[in-house]
Amino acid sequence: MPLRQTAELRALEPTPVPSVRSRCADLIDTLADGCRLGRDGLVTLITSATAADQEHARRRAVAVAHEHFGNRVFVRGLIEFSNHCRQDCLYCGIRKGNRAVERYRLDAEQILRCCAQGYSLGYRTFVLQSGEDAWYTTDVVVDIVSRIRAAYPDCAITLSIGERGREAYQRFLDAGADRFLLRHETATADHYAQLHPPSQQLATRLRCLADLKEIGFQTGAGFMVGSPFQTPEHLAADLALLAELRPHMVGIGPFLPHRSTPFGDRSAGSVDLTLFLLSLVRLMLPTVLLPSTTALGTARPGAREQGIQAGANVLMLNLSPQDQRAKYLLYDGKSVSGEVAEMTHAVQRSLERIGYTMVVDRGDHPEVAR
Ligand code: SF4
Repeated sequence: MPLRQTAELRALEPTPVPSVRSRCADLIDTLADGCRLGRDGLVTLITSATAADQEHARRRAVAVAHEHFGNRVFVRGLIEFSNHCRQDCLYCGIRKGNRAVERYRLDAEQILRCCAQGYSLGYRTFVLQSGEDAWYTTDVVVDIVSRIRAAYPDCAITLSIGERGREAYQRFLDAGADRFLLRHETATADHYAQLHPPSQQLATRLRCLADLKEIGFQTGAGFMVGSPFQTPEHLAADLALLAELRPHMVGIGPFLPHRSTPFGDRSAGSVDLTLFLLSLVRLMLPTVLLPSTTALGTARPGAREQGIQAGANVLMLNLSPQDQRAKYLLYDGKSVSGEVAEMTHAVQRSLERIGYTMVVDRGDHPEVAR
């Protein structure tokens, strides 16, 4: 039997019914039935789910992902166009305070060359990511977005450039950007204050997310798993925020330390907990665009594929110039080598091995797909 069918059938098989149903299995089914859980229920899941419960969540999440997306995985071409940042997030390798970083910027021509290479390989979404770099004023970003929009009318443009004002966001949308990623990182103000300097406020981040959604961006939120000082209650608050905000995209990855940050000696977040949370997010937001992140694949070989098998349906591959990639190190261990075509084909093959297909498609959220 072909691999694809095998995987599909396995995904749709009913979970064996345990002799005594666990409280967590009931909570997972509640989520799968479209009901929201209160904070206590979410904390119970995070603290008490057994391996069998996590497998139950995984199977149900994969069935939901198949219902909406089949065995299709969307790929995004990531262009890390500047590692300058005015912010100082304590966990981030390119934070302003890290003087050891060699900084770089790509101009519009260089960015367009990355798009051209990606387009020829089948990428139909370009994710433009940078630190919060004021060199790229609103006008400069508008110019870059307009030029990509004109050159690639059939592609989606995603921005991941941090906190800006509502008017700037509106101009980016008007210029042709479709999506905006802005992870909230933690939904608990006290915890946010432990991960950021006082100048950075959770309220600002949440206001940006609300603005982005209101003005019509496909909006992405998300958080780290296992960040310093994180508790199950914090993670429950993160899930509750997602249930409330209902973003179109959710980025979840394990915390990974960077040696030149204040959290350089901290332990990495749990891969298995991240996979479980991916499944829960798929159940909570059935049609969400859910990446299996690079951080997940960095934390454990094969975990990126496991993310897809836990309910994720998006992968991001790096289209940035090879000679700059090593300077965009948000955490230690990130893979920076590899020629784009080779990486793309390798990912294609690894998806096929687990029964999935990489599709040439903008891969919009079903609510806004044109
Ligand atoms: S996480 Fe983003 S905003 Fe924070 S320091 Fe890093 S690049 Fe800048």
